[in-house]
Amino acid sequence: MCGIFGIFGHSNGKQIAKTGIWAEQHRGQDAAGIACLRIKNSKKGLIEVEKKPGKVREVLQGQDFDDLSGEVWIAHVRYSTQGKPSKRNAQPHYAQSIHGRIAIVSNGDVVNMEEQRNFLDRHDIQIYTENDAELIVASINYQITFRKRDIIEAIAQVMEHIQGAFSALVITEFDDRLFAFRDPFGIRPLFISIVEEKGRKTYMFASETSAFDAVLPLFGSGAKIELRMVEPGEIIAVGPRGIESFKGPKAERQAFCLFEFVYFSRPDSTINGKSFQAFRINAGRELCKEYPAEADLVSPIPKSGIPAGVGYASFSGIPYMPVIIENPSFDIDFGRRRTFIEPTEQERLLKAQLKFNFIADLIQEKRLVITDDSIVRGLITGVVNKALWQSKAKSVHIRIASPPYRFPCFYGIETKRKNTLAAAGRTMEGIKELIGQPTTLAYLSLEGLIKSVEIPKDQLCTACFDGNYPIPIPCVL
Ligand code: SF4
Ligand code: MG
Repeated sequence: MCGIFGIFGHSNGKQIAKTGIWAEQHRGQDAAGIACLRIKNSKKGLIEVEKKPGKVREVLQGQDFDDLSGEVWIAHVRYSTQGKPSKRNAQPHYAQSIHGRIAIVSNGDVVNMEEQRNFLDRHDIQIYTENDAELIVASINYQITFRKRDIIEAIAQVMEHIQGAFSALVITEFDDRLFAFRDPFGIRPLFISIVEEKGRKTYMFASETSAFDAVLPLFGSGAKIELRMVEPGEIIAVGPRGIESFKGPKAERQAFCLFEFVYFSRPDSTINGKSFQAFRINAGRELCKEYPAEADLVSPIPKSGIPAGVGYASFSGIPYMPVIIENPSFDIDFGRRRTFIEPTEQERLLKAQLKFNFIADLIQEKRLVITDDSIVRGLITGVVNKALWQSKAKSVHIRIASPPYRFPCFYGIETKRKNTLAAAGRTMEGIKELIGQPTTLAYLSLEGLIKSVEIPKDQLCTACFDGNYPIPIPCVL
């Protein structure tokens, strides 16, 4: 999971790109980067890149950032999946083609890396990093340099050969447009927003719609806004001549990541015109229908368990009463870094214990329903459950607003090792034991979750819940 943002057509593009990508900081905090294209004429330009490990506010500042100037911008926040956190693996990546540089930012993971790497190797195309986005841009370069294709054909060819999840933005030194494309299954999100002010259009792309909301104050008040998703398999070009859409390869089905609904996307981001918060409240209500409990209060594990708690409380009529508090010092010091994406087990455990405090007088002798969005490794749930018993709860009913996360994700989430997943190979009793024996533990069914997100099952990826991988994974199947 990473975040991307791109903009064409605004004189304040640099500030807008920085603000937009900053609004997606929750999607990755290992590294940030930006590339800009300074257009000389429609076939000639200069690309510059600035990137390094750190958060947006740390990376996109200082002299080097101030010196950047251009008309087209692409930006990235990185959550490490393919390749360690390092400056080299940070995005944007670029390739040197015969016509000039090509730069890319991408969200998602390629699953046939080895095959593609060997292919490029045979054609003497160097890969300098361990990151799959570089592989995509190197493959585009191959199509342009060796196969003499134009940029749209090159992208379409690469979309045929590269398998996996990718939502990407590309700029080149030999074309004045900004290109966006999304894998044929449409696993990772990508949206386009067209803002029209006084007859002038600005085109923006983002992994989440809340990034567009964040930059809106940088536009005039009378701006007209059009918003849609980039379609699976679609290639979009935006530039001085407006917007063009091209059909890339088609998959037999769509497979939007169901976990975006459960956890990744910001609650205020929207899809199909509805906020993720609303979908998550739905899931909480479904959870209560499926697994009611006798209790005195419903408390979420903040923040990801909040909408499920709201939904559960409203459906059951049990009072909503937060008794688990995020330690404010933790927020200030760790900058709201999400616990799930801490890279090592020990760091995760330490942070989890520092992250919360428990309001003992409200917990004592109470029957509690505790909601969360998911249990991935079981770390947070375990820390919370143990603390609630120490605070003398009468009973602890843990309710999870998604099914057991049993199978690793290979499409852009760092859950590749199955043995780190709490639910993999464990019975419900085994999971209860792992998290310190709550009174009861129940998960929302897959059917219940799909009902809550209002998208048919055959348009969703559900692999981490049911092992049904839409794109075959070489090492699993
Ligand atoms: Fe999303 Fe799970 Fe599919 Fe990965 S396996 S893309 S996390 S639904
Ligand atoms: Mg959480």
